[in-house]
This record gives sequence, C-alpha cells and structure tokens, in this order.
Amino acid sequence: MRRLLIAGNWKMNLDRGHSLALVQGLVESLRSISNVDIAVCPPAVYLGELGKALHGSNIGLGAQNAYSKPDGAYTGEISCAMVKDVGCRYVILGHSERRAIFGETDQMVNEKLHAVLAAGITPIVCVGETLQEREAGKTQQVVRSQSIGSLKGLSHDQMLKTVLAYEPVWAIGTGKTATPAQAEEVHEDIRTLLESQFSKETAQKVILLYGGSVKADNALELLSEPNIDGALVGGASLKQDSFEGIVRAASSVNK
Ligand code: PEP
Repeated sequence: MRRLLIAGNWKMNLDRGHSLALVQGLVESLRSISNVDIAVCPPAVYLGELGKALHGSNIGLGAQNAYSKPDGAYTGEISCAMVKDVGCRYVILGHSERRAIFGETDQMVNEKLHAVLAAGITPIVCVGETLQEREAGKTQQVVRSQSIGSLKGLSHDQMLKTVLAYEPVWAIGTGKTATPAQAEEVHEDIRTLLESQFSKETAQKVILLYGGSVKADNALELLSEPNIDGALVGGASLKQDSFEGIVRAASSVNK
C-alpha cells in the first residue's frame, strides 16, 4: 500500500513572520496525524529557520528548487547539499512555473533530479500539459515525454525514491481542478509508462501526486482515486485551515 503525501508549495509567498506562524500552527494542529506524510516547501531564505521550527514534528521540510552542480560560480543558485544541510527532506523539481518562466527543460530537471537523489533527498518531479495541449489531444504525449525526459537514467531503486506530481498547467492557481476521472486517467497512464520503463513492481510503489487547485472540499474525491497518492498544493497551503483540511481528508481516505 502506498502512503499518501500532502506537500504544500508556498511559491514566493508569505513573509518571515507569517511563515513562522503558519509552521507553528500546523505543527500543533497536525500533531496527531500519523497515517499521512506531510511536507511544506517555503521560500528558500526561510528554510533554515523553519527547519528548526519543524524539528521533531511529523511535518517534513522541502525546497522549491535546487541546482544540479555541487558548488562553484553559480550566482543565485543553491546546491542540494545546502538544502539538505538546513533540514530539507524534499525538493520540488520542474514545476511548470520553473519550466515556463525560467526556461527549465527536461534535461535540466533530469540533471537536478540526479543531484537531489545523490544528496539523499526525495525529489518531487512535476509534469503536466497546458490547456492548449489538452485541447489538441496531446495530454498523454506531453506527460509521457516530460516524464521520460525528466526521469532519464534512473535505476529502479532511484525511481522508488522519486515522487512524481501530475500538475495540469491549466489547473494551477486557476481554481479549475481536473475532475477526479481526468486526473486518474493521467495517473494511470503514468503508472503504465513506469511499468514499461522499470517494472510492474516498481510502478506500483511510486508515489504519484496530483496538483492543481486542490482544496479542502475537493481533496477527498481526488485522493480516493486508486492511482492518486497525495497532492501538491499551492494556494490552499498558505492558510492553516485549508492545508489542515486537505491533510485531514487524506488521513480519512480508505483504499
Ligand atoms: C502548484 O503550484 O503546485 C499548485 C498546485 O498550485 P495551486 O494548488 O494553487 O493550483
């Protein structure tokens, strides 16, 4: 059985005071949840301080990005060893905003993925189609191609340590969620792809998250789908009650 993971992607939101207050509130309110993995991914400058606030809790810390090179003249970048050093257990890679705004390609995501795995951190690799691609009937092609490109060269063992997030770009921050059936269809196809690239056993064990306007009131039906193993949450992870509602929905799923 796969354990559900709920990860909050704060993006470039919340100042230091609000970040600390949110983390402290979540530590208290989610203390009793033991059947779901939980993570928050705050802006990089707050990782060290929030890592201390999360220490000993059941909430993991994640970074929103990390660079593939170990050190050197890469102004503005942060290495995987650095994010590990401040307590990160997760790193989000290849988010559609990184791909669309900062020009990240599958190859760049793949290089980062190998570096993150080598550092002993769990990568959350994002893939997903735009509205135009969906309307052109290219969802499967785009998601498969991004997955193959991003996951290149992984061993079975490394694949088992990697989380994938299907995030249709048209559903991110728009309030338009994929229906559970739409999301499940893509998740099932990703699992079929993993089966062909790795093995049935490996494919069955990989955690596949859905992301795109997940809220407390739509989480349960999405998370109840057989191949949806959690959520990557943007907007709704910025407030204690909405993030808590999603984690509680995940905790109540029985499958
Ligand atoms: C995201 O950015 O990963 C995301 C899913 O955002 P939202 O939940 O706001 O759609």
